[in-house]
Amino acid sequence: MAKTYDVVVIGGGPAGYVAAIRCAQLGLETACVEKWINFKGDPALGGTCLNVGCIPSKTLLESSEQYHHIKDGIANHGIHVEGVRLDLDQMMARKEDIVLQLTNGISALFKANGVEWLQGHGKLLANRQVEITGHDGVVDVVSADNVIIATGSRPIDIGAAPVDNAEGLIVDSTGALDFRQVPATLGVIGAGVIGLELGSVWSRLGSKVIVLEAVEDFLSLVDQQIARDALRQFRKQGMDIHMGARVIATRKTANGVEVHFKDKDGDHEIMVEKLLVSVGRRPNTDDVAAPESGLLFGERGYIHVDEHCATNLPGVYAVGDVVRGPMLAHKGSEEGVMVAEIIAGQPGHLNYDTIPWVIYTSPEIAWVGKTEQALKAEGIPYKIGSFPFSANGRAKAMDHANGMVKLLAHAETDTLLGCHIIGPFASELVQEAVLAMEFNASSEDLARTIHGHPTLYEAMHEAALSVHGRALHKINT
Ligand code: FAD
Ligand code: NAD
Repeated sequence: MAKTYDVVVIGGGPAGYVAAIRCAQLGLETACVEKWINFKGDPALGGTCLNVGCIPSKTLLESSEQYHHIKDGIANHGIHVEGVRLDLDQMMARKEDIVLQLTNGISALFKANGVEWLQGHGKLLANRQVEITGHDGVVDVVSADNVIIATGSRPIDIGAAPVDNAEGLIVDSTGALDFRQVPATLGVIGAGVIGLELGSVWSRLGSKVIVLEAVEDFLSLVDQQIARDALRQFRKQGMDIHMGARVIATRKTANGVEVHFKDKDGDHEIMVEKLLVSVGRRPNTDDVAAPESGLLFGERGYIHVDEHCATNLPGVYAVGDVVRGPMLAHKGSEEGVMVAEIIAGQPGHLNYDTIPWVIYTSPEIAWVGKTEQALKAEGIPYKIGSFPFSANGRAKAMDHANGMVKLLAHAETDTLLGCHIIGPFASELVQEAVLAMEFNASSEDLARTIHGHPTLYEAMHEAALSVHGRALHKINT
Protein backbone atom coordinates (compact mmCIF):
# COMPACT_ATOMS: atom_id res chain seq x y z
CA MET A 1 0.00 0.00 0.00
CA ALA A 2 1.16 3.51 -0.82
CA LYS A 3 2.57 5.43 2.15
CA THR A 4 0.22 8.25 3.17
CA TYR A 5 1.15 11.76 4.29
CA ASP A 6 -0.91 14.71 5.46
CA VAL A 7 0.90 16.83 2.87
CA VAL A 8 3.16 16.11 -0.09
CA VAL A 9 4.89 19.15 -1.62
CA ILE A 10 6.26 18.77 -5.17
CA GLY A 11 9.25 21.11 -5.57
CA GLY A 12 11.74 22.31 -2.95
CA GLY A 13 12.39 25.93 -4.01
CA PRO A 14 11.47 28.92 -1.81
CA ALA A 15 7.75 28.30 -2.38
CA GLY A 16 7.86 24.53 -1.77
CA TYR A 17 10.45 24.22 1.00
CA VAL A 18 8.84 27.03 3.02
CA ALA A 19 5.41 25.42 2.57
CA ALA A 20 6.84 22.09 3.76
CA ILE A 21 8.53 23.59 6.84
CA ARG A 22 5.39 25.52 7.82
CA CYS A 23 3.22 22.39 7.35
CA ALA A 24 5.57 20.43 9.62
CA GLN A 25 5.57 23.23 12.22
CA LEU A 26 1.78 22.95 12.26
CA GLY A 27 1.99 19.25 13.10
CA LEU A 28 1.27 17.85 9.63
CA GLU A 29 3.19 14.79 8.45
CA THR A 30 4.95 16.26 5.43
CA ALA A 31 7.16 15.08 2.57
CA CYS A 32 8.78 17.21 -0.14
CA VAL A 33 9.66 15.77 -3.55
CA GLU A 34 12.66 17.50 -5.12
CA LYS A 35 14.77 16.45 -8.10
CA TRP A 36 17.47 19.16 -8.35
CA ILE A 37 21.05 17.97 -8.94
CA ASN A 38 23.57 20.70 -8.11
CA PHE A 39 26.88 21.68 -9.76
CA LYS A 40 28.68 19.03 -7.70
CA GLY A 41 26.33 16.32 -8.96
CA ASP A 42 24.54 16.01 -5.60
CA PRO A 43 20.79 16.23 -4.91
CA ALA A 44 19.98 19.68 -3.52
CA LEU A 45 17.09 21.65 -2.07
CA GLY A 46 16.49 25.40 -2.56
CA GLY A 47 15.32 25.44 -6.19
CA THR A 48 16.22 28.11 -8.72
CA CYS A 49 16.53 30.83 -6.08
CA LEU A 50 19.24 29.27 -3.95
CA ASN A 51 21.07 27.28 -6.63
CA VAL A 52 21.07 29.45 -9.76
CA GLY A 53 18.98 32.54 -8.99
CA CYS A 54 18.67 35.07 -6.17
CA ILE A 55 21.60 33.89 -4.06
CA PRO A 56 24.40 33.33 -6.61
CA SER A 57 23.36 36.46 -8.53
CA LYS A 58 23.36 38.64 -5.40
CA THR A 59 26.69 37.13 -4.35
CA LEU A 60 28.29 38.07 -7.68
CA LEU A 61 26.58 41.48 -7.66
CA GLU A 62 28.15 42.16 -4.24
CA SER A 63 31.60 40.89 -5.27
CA SER A 64 31.62 42.80 -8.55
CA GLU A 65 30.40 45.96 -6.79
CA GLN A 66 33.25 45.72 -4.26
CA TYR A 67 35.79 45.22 -7.07
CA HIS A 68 34.44 48.14 -9.05
CA HIS A 69 34.28 50.37 -5.97
CA ILE A 70 37.83 49.64 -4.87
CA LYS A 71 39.11 50.05 -8.42
CA ASP A 72 37.22 53.15 -9.51
CA GLY A 73 35.03 54.51 -6.73
CA ILE A 74 37.21 55.01 -3.70
CA ALA A 75 39.68 57.68 -4.87
CA ASN A 76 37.06 60.35 -4.19
CA HIS A 77 37.32 59.42 -0.49
CA GLY A 78 41.04 60.19 -0.64
CA ILE A 79 42.00 56.51 -0.68
CA HIS A 80 44.27 55.32 -3.44
CA VAL A 81 44.59 51.62 -4.01
CA GLU A 82 47.09 50.25 -6.47
CA GLY A 83 47.46 46.82 -7.98
CA VAL A 84 43.80 45.79 -7.63
CA ARG A 85 43.56 42.33 -9.19
CA LEU A 86 40.52 40.28 -10.07
CA ASP A 87 40.60 36.61 -9.03
CA LEU A 88 37.50 35.32 -10.82
CA ASP A 89 38.11 31.73 -9.70
CA GLN A 90 38.00 32.83 -6.05
CA MET A 91 34.89 34.97 -6.72
CA MET A 92 33.15 31.94 -8.24
CA ALA A 93 34.37 29.62 -5.45
CA ARG A 94 32.92 32.01 -2.85
CA LYS A 95 29.60 32.04 -4.72
CA GLU A 96 29.55 28.22 -4.82
CA ASP A 97 30.41 28.00 -1.14
CA ILE A 98 27.53 30.33 -0.20
CA VAL A 99 25.12 28.33 -2.38
CA LEU A 100 26.20 25.08 -0.71
CA GLN A 101 25.95 26.53 2.81
CA LEU A 102 22.41 27.77 2.19
CA THR A 103 21.11 24.72 0.32
CA ASN A 104 22.60 22.38 2.94
CA GLY A 105 20.92 24.61 5.51
CA ILE A 106 17.51 23.77 4.00
CA SER A 107 18.16 20.07 4.31
CA ALA A 108 19.17 20.63 7.97
CA LEU A 109 15.91 22.54 8.50
CA PHE A 110 13.97 19.66 6.93
CA LYS A 111 15.60 17.21 9.35
CA ALA A 112 14.99 19.46 12.36
CA ASN A 113 11.33 19.96 11.45
CA GLY A 114 10.72 16.33 10.45
CA VAL A 115 10.06 16.98 6.75
CA GLU A 116 10.87 13.91 4.68
CA TRP A 117 12.80 14.67 1.46
CA LEU A 118 11.76 12.30 -1.35
CA GLN A 119 14.49 12.67 -3.98
CA GLY A 120 13.38 12.52 -7.60
CA HIS A 121 10.72 13.71 -10.03
CA GLY A 122 7.19 14.06 -8.65
CA LYS A 123 4.01 13.80 -10.70
CA LEU A 124 0.42 14.26 -9.55
CA LEU A 125 -1.81 11.28 -10.37
CA ALA A 126 -5.56 10.96 -9.76
CA ASN A 127 -6.94 11.15 -6.18
CA ARG A 128 -3.96 12.98 -4.66
CA GLN A 129 -1.53 10.19 -5.36
CA VAL A 130 1.99 11.30 -6.27
CA GLU A 131 4.36 9.24 -8.40
CA ILE A 132 8.05 9.69 -7.59
CA THR A 133 10.72 8.64 -10.08
CA GLY A 134 13.99 8.47 -8.16
CA HIS A 135 17.37 9.47 -9.59
CA ASP A 136 18.04 5.73 -10.00
CA GLY A 137 14.87 5.35 -12.11
CA VAL A 138 12.93 3.48 -9.39
CA VAL A 139 9.27 4.51 -9.32
CA ASP A 140 7.26 4.79 -6.10
CA VAL A 141 3.76 6.08 -5.42
CA VAL A 142 2.69 7.88 -2.23
CA SER A 143 -0.67 9.18 -1.19
CA ALA A 144 -1.56 12.48 0.48
CA ASP A 145 -4.54 14.26 2.00
CA ASN A 146 -3.13 17.44 0.48
CA VAL A 147 -0.71 18.12 -2.34
CA ILE A 148 1.11 21.43 -2.89
CA ILE A 149 2.66 21.88 -6.34
CA ALA A 150 5.65 24.26 -6.32
CA THR A 151 7.61 23.25 -9.40
CA GLY A 152 8.82 26.76 -10.26
CA SER A 153 9.88 28.10 -13.63
CA ARG A 154 12.60 28.02 -16.25
CA PRO A 155 13.95 30.47 -18.85
CA ILE A 156 11.96 31.16 -22.02
CA ASP A 157 13.81 30.13 -25.20
CA ILE A 158 13.77 32.09 -28.43
CA GLY A 159 14.41 30.39 -31.75
CA ALA A 160 16.77 33.14 -32.90
CA ALA A 161 19.26 32.44 -30.08
CA PRO A 162 19.27 28.80 -28.89
CA VAL A 163 20.88 28.48 -25.46
CA ASP A 164 23.65 25.96 -24.77
CA ASN A 165 25.09 26.53 -21.29
CA ALA A 166 27.57 23.65 -21.63
CA GLU A 167 29.09 25.20 -24.74
CA GLY A 168 28.97 28.61 -23.02
CA LEU A 169 28.55 30.92 -26.03
CA ILE A 170 24.80 31.59 -25.97
CA VAL A 171 23.67 31.16 -22.37
CA ASP A 172 20.76 31.78 -20.02
CA SER A 173 21.13 33.19 -16.49
CA THR A 174 22.58 29.90 -15.20
CA GLY A 175 25.37 30.05 -17.79
CA ALA A 176 26.01 33.77 -17.19
CA LEU A 177 26.46 33.11 -13.45
CA ASP A 178 29.27 30.73 -14.28
CA PHE A 179 31.59 32.33 -16.87
CA ARG A 180 35.15 31.35 -16.03
CA GLN A 181 36.68 34.36 -17.81
CA VAL A 182 35.42 37.91 -18.13
CA PRO A 183 34.08 38.18 -21.70
CA ALA A 184 35.45 41.20 -23.58
CA THR A 185 31.93 41.80 -24.92
CA LEU A 186 28.63 40.48 -23.58
CA GLY A 187 25.44 40.76 -25.59
CA VAL A 188 22.22 40.63 -23.57
CA ILE A 189 18.80 39.96 -25.13
CA GLY A 190 16.12 41.50 -22.86
CA ALA A 191 16.55 44.56 -20.63
CA GLY A 192 14.56 42.99 -17.79
CA VAL A 193 15.63 42.18 -14.25
CA ILE A 194 18.07 39.40 -15.16
CA GLY A 195 19.58 41.26 -18.12
CA LEU A 196 20.25 44.35 -16.02
CA GLU A 197 21.53 42.51 -12.93
CA LEU A 198 23.85 40.11 -14.75
CA GLY A 199 24.76 42.79 -17.28
CA SER A 200 25.87 44.91 -14.28
CA VAL A 201 27.98 42.06 -12.84
CA TRP A 202 30.00 41.60 -16.04
CA SER A 203 30.13 45.30 -16.85
CA ARG A 204 31.70 45.99 -13.43
CA LEU A 205 34.19 43.19 -14.00
CA GLY A 206 35.26 44.72 -17.31
CA SER A 207 32.96 43.49 -20.12
CA LYS A 208 31.51 45.83 -22.70
CA VAL A 209 27.79 45.10 -22.30
CA ILE A 210 25.35 45.60 -25.18
CA VAL A 211 21.66 45.14 -24.32
CA LEU A 212 19.01 44.54 -26.99
CA GLU A 213 15.45 45.07 -25.77
CA ALA A 214 12.44 44.40 -28.00
CA VAL A 215 10.01 46.98 -26.59
CA GLU A 216 10.41 50.77 -26.59
CA ASP A 217 9.55 51.39 -22.89
CA PHE A 218 12.46 50.71 -20.56
CA LEU A 219 11.36 48.71 -17.46
CA SER A 220 7.66 49.13 -18.22
CA LEU A 221 6.60 47.67 -14.83
CA VAL A 222 8.58 50.34 -12.98
CA ASP A 223 7.32 53.87 -12.29
CA GLN A 224 8.38 55.60 -15.50
CA GLN A 225 10.02 58.58 -13.78
CA ILE A 226 12.30 56.13 -11.93
CA ALA A 227 12.81 54.02 -15.09
CA ARG A 228 13.96 57.07 -17.10
CA ASP A 229 16.48 57.94 -14.38
CA ALA A 230 17.68 54.31 -14.30
CA LEU A 231 18.18 54.21 -18.08
CA ARG A 232 20.17 57.44 -17.94
CA GLN A 233 22.37 56.15 -15.11
CA PHE A 234 22.98 52.72 -16.70
CA ARG A 235 23.96 54.33 -20.00
CA LYS A 236 26.28 56.70 -18.12
CA GLN A 237 27.91 53.63 -16.54
CA GLY A 238 28.72 52.41 -20.05
CA MET A 239 25.94 49.90 -20.71
CA ASP A 240 24.97 50.19 -24.37
CA ILE A 241 21.19 49.75 -24.21
CA HIS A 242 19.19 49.57 -27.46
CA MET A 243 15.42 49.88 -27.10
CA GLY A 244 13.01 48.59 -29.75
CA ALA A 245 15.66 46.11 -30.93
CA ARG A 246 14.47 42.70 -32.15
CA VAL A 247 17.00 39.92 -32.58
CA ILE A 248 16.33 38.12 -35.86
CA ALA A 249 19.20 35.62 -35.96
CA THR A 250 22.47 34.60 -34.37
CA ARG A 251 25.48 32.78 -35.80
CA LYS A 252 28.27 31.19 -33.81
CA THR A 253 31.76 31.88 -35.16
CA ALA A 254 35.31 31.19 -34.03
CA ASN A 255 35.33 34.60 -32.25
CA GLY A 256 31.97 34.45 -30.53
CA VAL A 257 28.41 35.15 -31.65
CA GLU A 258 27.21 37.30 -34.51
CA VAL A 259 23.87 38.88 -33.56
CA HIS A 260 21.52 40.28 -36.20
CA PHE A 261 18.83 42.65 -35.00
CA LYS A 262 16.31 45.15 -36.37
CA ASP A 263 15.25 48.47 -34.90
CA LYS A 264 13.52 51.59 -36.24
CA ASP A 265 16.72 52.55 -38.06
CA GLY A 266 16.97 49.28 -39.96
CA ASP A 267 19.01 46.05 -39.78
CA HIS A 268 22.17 45.78 -37.69
CA GLU A 269 24.82 43.21 -36.92
CA ILE A 270 27.06 43.06 -33.85
CA MET A 271 29.73 40.61 -32.76
CA VAL A 272 29.92 39.59 -29.08
CA GLU A 273 32.09 37.10 -27.23
CA LYS A 274 29.13 35.75 -25.21
CA LEU A 275 25.40 36.22 -25.48
CA LEU A 276 22.93 36.10 -22.56
CA VAL A 277 19.28 35.37 -23.37
CA SER A 278 17.06 36.81 -20.61
CA VAL A 279 13.60 37.32 -22.10
CA GLY A 280 11.49 36.03 -19.19
CA ARG A 281 10.67 32.73 -17.53
CA ARG A 282 7.84 30.22 -17.94
CA PRO A 283 6.21 27.82 -15.48
CA ASN A 284 7.53 24.26 -15.10
CA THR A 285 4.33 22.36 -15.81
CA ASP A 286 5.28 20.06 -18.67
CA ASP A 287 5.39 16.85 -16.67
CA VAL A 288 3.87 17.78 -13.34
CA ALA A 289 0.44 16.15 -13.56
CA ALA A 290 -0.89 13.07 -15.36
CA PRO A 291 -3.94 13.80 -17.55
CA GLU A 292 -6.09 11.57 -15.31
CA SER A 293 -5.37 13.88 -12.34
CA GLY A 294 -7.78 16.39 -13.91
CA LEU A 295 -5.58 19.37 -12.95
CA LEU A 296 -6.64 22.55 -14.73
CA PHE A 297 -4.06 24.78 -16.42
CA GLY A 298 -4.59 28.41 -17.34
CA GLU A 299 -2.91 30.75 -19.79
CA ARG A 300 0.69 30.11 -20.88
CA GLY A 301 0.94 26.88 -18.91
CA TYR A 302 0.41 28.30 -15.41
CA ILE A 303 -1.55 26.10 -13.01
CA HIS A 304 -4.97 27.66 -12.52
CA VAL A 305 -5.54 28.76 -8.88
CA ASP A 306 -7.85 31.03 -6.90
CA GLU A 307 -6.68 33.82 -4.56
CA HIS A 308 -5.83 31.21 -1.92
CA CYS A 309 -3.74 29.12 -4.33
CA ALA A 310 -6.37 26.34 -4.45
CA THR A 311 -6.50 24.51 -7.79
CA ASN A 312 -9.66 23.04 -9.31
CA LEU A 313 -8.98 19.78 -7.38
CA PRO A 314 -9.99 19.51 -3.70
CA GLY A 315 -6.89 19.34 -1.48
CA VAL A 316 -4.51 20.28 -4.30
CA TYR A 317 -2.79 23.68 -4.18
CA ALA A 318 -0.10 25.38 -6.27
CA VAL A 319 2.29 28.14 -5.19
CA GLY A 320 5.25 30.21 -6.43
CA ASP A 321 6.42 30.74 -10.01
CA VAL A 322 4.14 27.97 -11.28
CA VAL A 323 1.07 30.18 -10.68
CA ARG A 324 0.02 33.73 -11.66
CA GLY A 325 1.62 36.81 -10.13
CA PRO A 326 5.19 38.06 -9.99
CA MET A 327 7.96 35.46 -10.20
CA LEU A 328 9.61 36.42 -6.90
CA ALA A 329 10.98 34.18 -4.18
CA HIS A 330 9.25 36.00 -1.30
CA LYS A 331 5.88 35.92 -3.11
CA GLY A 332 6.21 32.13 -3.47
CA SER A 333 7.31 31.66 0.14
CA GLU A 334 4.39 33.68 1.50
CA GLU A 335 1.99 31.67 -0.68
CA GLY A 336 3.55 28.53 0.80
CA VAL A 337 2.90 29.76 4.34
CA MET A 338 -0.67 30.78 3.45
CA VAL A 339 -1.49 27.35 1.99
CA ALA A 340 0.11 25.47 4.92
CA GLU A 341 -2.01 27.48 7.35
CA ILE A 342 -5.19 26.92 5.31
CA ILE A 343 -4.50 23.15 5.28
CA ALA A 344 -4.04 23.27 9.07
CA GLY A 345 -7.45 24.92 9.42
CA GLN A 346 -6.19 28.46 9.98
CA PRO A 347 -7.29 31.56 8.04
CA GLY A 348 -4.38 31.81 5.57
CA HIS A 349 -3.98 35.19 3.91
CA LEU A 350 -1.62 37.06 1.58
CA ASN A 351 -1.79 40.74 0.67
CA TYR A 352 -0.80 40.73 -3.01
CA ASP A 353 -0.90 44.56 -3.04
CA THR A 354 2.18 44.89 -0.84
CA ILE A 355 4.71 42.60 -2.55
CA PRO A 356 8.02 44.47 -2.83
CA TRP A 357 10.14 44.33 -5.99
CA VAL A 358 13.87 44.95 -6.09
CA ILE A 359 16.32 45.20 -8.97
CA TYR A 360 19.80 44.82 -7.50
CA THR A 361 21.65 47.08 -9.91
CA SER A 362 23.71 50.06 -8.79
CA PRO A 363 21.81 52.16 -8.01
CA GLU A 364 19.23 49.70 -6.75
CA ILE A 365 15.62 50.09 -7.85
CA ALA A 366 12.83 49.05 -5.48
CA TRP A 367 9.12 49.58 -5.31
CA VAL A 368 5.84 48.51 -3.76
CA GLY A 369 2.27 49.30 -4.72
CA LYS A 370 1.00 51.33 -7.65
CA THR A 371 3.10 53.29 -10.13
CA GLU A 372 2.09 56.79 -11.19
CA GLN A 373 1.18 55.52 -14.66
CA ALA A 374 -1.12 52.86 -13.13
CA LEU A 375 -2.88 55.41 -10.90
CA LYS A 376 -3.45 57.64 -13.93
CA ALA A 377 -4.80 54.74 -15.97
CA GLU A 378 -7.14 53.72 -13.13
CA GLY A 379 -8.32 57.29 -12.54
CA ILE A 380 -7.29 57.25 -8.87
CA PRO A 381 -6.57 60.78 -7.53
CA TYR A 382 -3.09 60.98 -6.00
CA LYS A 383 -0.46 63.28 -4.57
CA ILE A 384 3.30 62.89 -5.03
CA GLY A 385 6.02 63.41 -2.46
CA SER A 386 9.63 63.01 -3.44
CA PHE A 387 13.12 63.58 -2.12
CA PRO A 388 16.50 63.36 -3.88
CA PHE A 389 19.39 61.47 -2.27
CA SER A 390 21.59 64.41 -3.33
CA ALA A 391 20.11 66.26 -0.32
CA ASN A 392 20.58 63.36 2.13
CA GLY A 393 23.65 63.61 4.34
CA ARG A 394 24.18 59.87 4.75
CA ALA A 395 23.96 59.25 0.99
CA LYS A 396 26.51 62.04 0.47
CA ALA A 397 28.85 60.51 3.07
CA MET A 398 28.55 57.19 1.27
CA ASP A 399 29.22 58.84 -2.09
CA HIS A 400 25.96 57.28 -3.35
CA ALA A 401 23.84 60.38 -3.69
CA ASN A 402 22.15 59.58 -7.02
CA GLY A 403 18.45 58.88 -7.26
CA MET A 404 15.33 59.62 -5.26
CA VAL A 405 12.44 58.39 -3.14
CA LYS A 406 8.98 58.93 -4.59
CA LEU A 407 5.81 58.32 -2.56
CA LEU A 408 2.29 58.26 -3.95
CA ALA A 409 -0.64 58.90 -1.60
CA HIS A 410 -4.40 59.05 -2.23
CA ALA A 411 -5.36 62.70 -2.83
CA GLU A 412 -8.43 62.46 -0.56
CA THR A 413 -7.61 59.87 2.13
CA ASP A 414 -3.78 60.31 2.14
CA THR A 415 -3.41 56.49 2.26
CA LEU A 416 -0.06 55.40 0.84
CA LEU A 417 -0.57 53.82 -2.59
CA GLY A 418 2.99 53.32 -3.79
CA CYS A 419 6.66 53.85 -3.04
CA HIS A 420 9.34 53.98 -5.74
CA ILE A 421 13.03 54.27 -4.99
CA ILE A 422 16.17 54.47 -7.06
CA GLY A 423 19.29 54.86 -4.98
CA PRO A 424 21.49 53.37 -2.25
CA PHE A 425 20.00 50.42 -0.35
CA ALA A 426 16.63 50.90 -2.05
CA SER A 427 16.08 47.18 -1.33
CA GLU A 428 16.16 47.85 2.41
CA LEU A 429 14.40 51.24 2.42
CA VAL A 430 11.36 49.96 0.55
CA GLN A 431 10.51 47.71 3.49
CA GLU A 432 9.46 50.77 5.50
CA ALA A 433 6.82 51.50 2.86
CA VAL A 434 5.80 47.81 2.69
CA LEU A 435 5.16 47.80 6.43
CA ALA A 436 3.39 51.17 6.32
CA MET A 437 1.13 50.01 3.49
CA GLU A 438 0.44 46.69 5.23
CA PHE A 439 -0.94 48.77 8.12
CA ASN A 440 -2.85 51.09 5.72
CA ALA A 441 -0.73 54.02 6.85
CA SER A 442 -1.07 57.51 5.41
CA SER A 443 1.80 59.73 4.25
CA GLU A 444 1.06 61.75 7.39
CA ASP A 445 1.82 58.65 9.52
CA LEU A 446 5.28 58.39 7.91
CA ALA A 447 5.79 62.14 8.14
CA ARG A 448 5.07 62.04 11.90
CA THR A 449 7.39 59.07 12.53
CA ILE A 450 10.82 59.94 13.95
CA HIS A 451 13.64 58.85 11.64
CA GLY A 452 17.21 58.68 12.94
CA HIS A 453 19.81 61.16 11.70
CA PRO A 454 21.84 60.83 9.58
CA THR A 455 20.25 57.86 7.80
CA LEU A 456 19.07 57.03 4.31
CA TYR A 457 15.62 56.59 5.87
CA GLU A 458 15.44 60.36 6.24
CA ALA A 459 14.84 60.44 2.48
CA MET A 460 11.67 58.37 3.10
CA HIS A 461 10.66 60.80 5.85
CA GLU A 462 11.28 63.86 3.69
CA ALA A 463 9.37 62.32 0.76
CA ALA A 464 6.42 61.78 3.12
CA LEU A 465 6.64 65.38 4.33
CA SER A 466 6.83 66.52 0.72
CA VAL A 467 3.44 64.93 -0.10
CA HIS A 468 1.92 67.92 1.68
CA GLY A 469 4.56 70.42 0.59
CA ARG A 470 6.42 70.54 3.90
CA ALA A 471 9.75 68.81 3.22
CA LEU A 472 12.37 70.44 5.42
CA HIS A 473 15.56 69.84 3.46
CA LYS A 474 14.49 70.71 -0.06
CA ILE A 475 12.63 73.61 -1.59
CA ASN A 476 8.98 72.59 -1.87
CA THR A 477 7.47 73.36 -5.26
P1 FAD B 1 11.89 27.32 -8.00
O1 FAD B 1 12.83 28.07 -7.16
O2 FAD B 1 12.10 27.27 -9.46
O3 FAD B 1 11.86 25.84 -7.40
C1 FAD B 1 11.13 24.84 -8.00
C2 FAD B 1 11.77 23.53 -7.63
O4 FAD B 1 10.93 22.48 -8.06
C3 FAD B 1 13.12 23.29 -8.28
O5 FAD B 1 14.04 22.97 -7.29
C4 FAD B 1 12.89 22.11 -9.22
O6 FAD B 1 14.00 21.22 -9.29
C5 FAD B 1 11.73 21.42 -8.55
N1 FAD B 1 10.90 20.66 -9.46
C6 FAD B 1 10.34 21.07 -10.63
N2 FAD B 1 9.56 20.10 -11.15
C7 FAD B 1 9.64 19.05 -10.28
C8 FAD B 1 9.06 17.78 -10.25
N3 FAD B 1 8.19 17.39 -11.19
N4 FAD B 1 9.38 16.95 -9.23
C9 FAD B 1 10.24 17.34 -8.26
N5 FAD B 1 10.81 18.55 -8.22
C10 FAD B 1 10.50 19.39 -9.22
N6 FAD B 1 13.52 36.44 -6.94
C11 FAD B 1 13.58 37.31 -5.91
O7 FAD B 1 12.59 37.45 -5.18
N7 FAD B 1 14.70 38.03 -5.63
C12 FAD B 1 15.81 37.92 -6.40
O8 FAD B 1 16.82 38.58 -6.13
C13 FAD B 1 15.78 37.01 -7.50
N8 FAD B 1 16.87 36.86 -8.29
C14 FAD B 1 16.83 35.95 -9.30
C15 FAD B 1 17.96 35.82 -10.10
C16 FAD B 1 17.97 34.91 -11.16
C17 FAD B 1 19.20 34.75 -12.00
C18 FAD B 1 16.81 34.11 -11.39
C19 FAD B 1 16.80 33.10 -12.50
C20 FAD B 1 15.68 34.26 -10.60
C21 FAD B 1 15.68 35.19 -9.56
N9 FAD B 1 14.56 35.39 -8.77
C22 FAD B 1 14.60 36.28 -7.74
C23 FAD B 1 13.32 34.63 -8.98
C24 FAD B 1 13.26 33.47 -7.98
O9 FAD B 1 14.38 32.65 -8.16
C25 FAD B 1 11.98 32.67 -8.20
O10 FAD B 1 10.87 33.54 -8.12
C26 FAD B 1 11.85 31.60 -7.15
O11 FAD B 1 12.93 30.71 -7.19
C27 FAD B 1 10.54 30.83 -7.33
O12 FAD B 1 10.44 29.86 -6.34
P2 FAD B 1 9.64 28.52 -6.61
O13 FAD B 1 9.82 27.70 -5.37
O14 FAD B 1 8.29 28.81 -7.10
O15 FAD B 1 10.40 27.82 -7.81
P1 NAD C 1 11.78 40.03 -17.42
O1 NAD C 1 10.38 39.76 -17.70
O2 NAD C 1 12.16 40.82 -16.22
O3 NAD C 1 12.44 40.78 -18.66
C1 NAD C 1 12.46 40.25 -19.94
C2 NAD C 1 12.69 41.37 -20.93
O4 NAD C 1 12.94 40.78 -22.18
C3 NAD C 1 11.48 42.28 -21.09
O5 NAD C 1 11.89 43.62 -21.01
C4 NAD C 1 10.96 41.94 -22.48
O6 NAD C 1 10.36 43.03 -23.14
C5 NAD C 1 12.23 41.51 -23.16
N1 NAD C 1 12.05 40.61 -24.29
C6 NAD C 1 11.16 39.60 -24.42
N2 NAD C 1 11.34 38.96 -25.60
C7 NAD C 1 12.37 39.59 -26.22
C8 NAD C 1 13.05 39.39 -27.45
N3 NAD C 1 12.69 38.41 -28.27
N4 NAD C 1 14.06 40.22 -27.76
C9 NAD C 1 14.44 41.21 -26.90
N5 NAD C 1 13.84 41.45 -25.73
C10 NAD C 1 12.82 40.64 -25.39
O7 NAD C 1 12.50 38.60 -17.43
P2 NAD C 1 13.94 38.14 -16.95
O8 NAD C 1 14.86 39.27 -16.85
O9 NAD C 1 14.28 36.97 -17.81
O10 NAD C 1 13.65 37.61 -15.50
C11 NAD C 1 12.63 36.63 -15.29
C12 NAD C 1 11.99 36.82 -13.96
O11 NAD C 1 12.86 36.37 -12.93
C13 NAD C 1 11.70 38.26 -13.61
O12 NAD C 1 10.50 38.71 -14.16
C14 NAD C 1 11.60 38.20 -12.13
O13 NAD C 1 10.31 37.80 -11.78
C15 NAD C 1 12.59 37.12 -11.76
N6 NAD C 1 13.83 37.75 -11.27
C16 NAD C 1 13.75 38.58 -10.20
C17 NAD C 1 14.89 39.20 -9.73
C18 NAD C 1 14.79 40.12 -8.57
O14 NAD C 1 13.78 40.07 -7.88
N7 NAD C 1 15.78 40.96 -8.31
C19 NAD C 1 16.10 38.99 -10.35
C20 NAD C 1 16.15 38.16 -11.45
C21 NAD C 1 15.01 37.52 -11.90
